[in-house]
Amino acid sequence: MIDRNKMLSRYRVTGPDFRLKDMDPRDTAELDLPKEVAKQHLEEISKSINKYQEMLYAQDQWSLLVILQAMDAAGKDSVLDKVMSGINPQGCQVHSFKAPTSTELDHDWLWRTTVALPERGRIGVFNRSYYEEVLVVRVHPEILAKQRTPKSLVGKDIWQERFDDIRAFEKHMARSGTKTLKFFLNVSKEEQKKRFLERIDEPDKNWKFNPGDVEERKLWDKYMDAYEDMIRNTSTDHAPWHVVPADKKWFTRLVVAHAIDEALAGLGLSYPKVDAAALEAMKRAREVLIKEK
Ligand code: ATP
Ligand code: MG
Repeated sequence: MIDRNKMLSRYRVTGPDFRLKDMDPRDTAELDLPKEVAKQHLEEISKSINKYQEMLYAQDQWSLLVILQAMDAAGKDSVLDKVMSGINPQGCQVHSFKAPTSTELDHDWLWRTTVALPERGRIGVFNRSYYEEVLVVRVHPEILAKQRTPKSLVGKDIWQERFDDIRAFEKHMARSGTKTLKFFLNVSKEEQKKRFLERIDEPDKNWKFNPGDVEERKLWDKYMDAYEDMIRNTSTDHAPWHVVPADKKWFTRLVVAHAIDEALAGLGLSYPKVDAAALEAMKRAREVLIKEK
């Protein structure tokens, strides 16, 4: 059996001295599960998540926000596909965030994600998120220039200020009943190369290949610095980052699923209690149904 606490604490970032270099993308927490076993295990956790999701929905108070961030080909889609697919679609909303539209650029940088936050009783998944604002925007100064923030407000502390804003925003959400879980799928540069080559060499995977991703890969080190600084500055008790090894997809899925299941378990969810009047009404309705000809 997996010691879940031990496994999750291995990947959950708690301190400001976090270093990405210390995290091995190939790590599997000493687990070496055969594919079939890992799959079965994932199915069991999915069932549990589904059960909690139903309670979350019935209780209609809490919501859960799952944020997925990663370099290209790290497996965000596979997590969405294999972990979230078991959840009742009525209770789970997935939003993908690409380069902002002109309407989105007319607003502050938290606007588009704020309107997409999960309603009470729902699980919301952000496939990329406002964290792009301290990643791609930091790595590409020309993107920042296009945001039309008044020049006097864009100084050398801009990234620190954005971290402050994110921390405050996530604290606010926590206080309103949204539990936030953040995952950085940590794929190695070598594994990314292997997956890009598969996308080129295997006709069934050609559709996934985007030549722009190879250009972005050239900025790998800059991205890693940005990720490290972001994780150090925005991992908090109420919205922790998990740096999940992503070279082995079966393991990535397992860690993400366990973290979601654990977070839901921690909310103390239960089905709403039915009061005496409602019980009485049900009793009467039952009699009516039984007597029906
Ligand atoms: P996949 O490649 O698996 O389909 P993806 O999430 O990489 O999924 P793409 O359409 O390839 O989707 O890329 C989305 C792009 O949008 C990424 O390069 C990302 O950095 C960029 N993006 C997301 N948010 C912002 C933002 N706020 N400002 C600028 N670019 C952004
Ligand atoms: Mg992409």
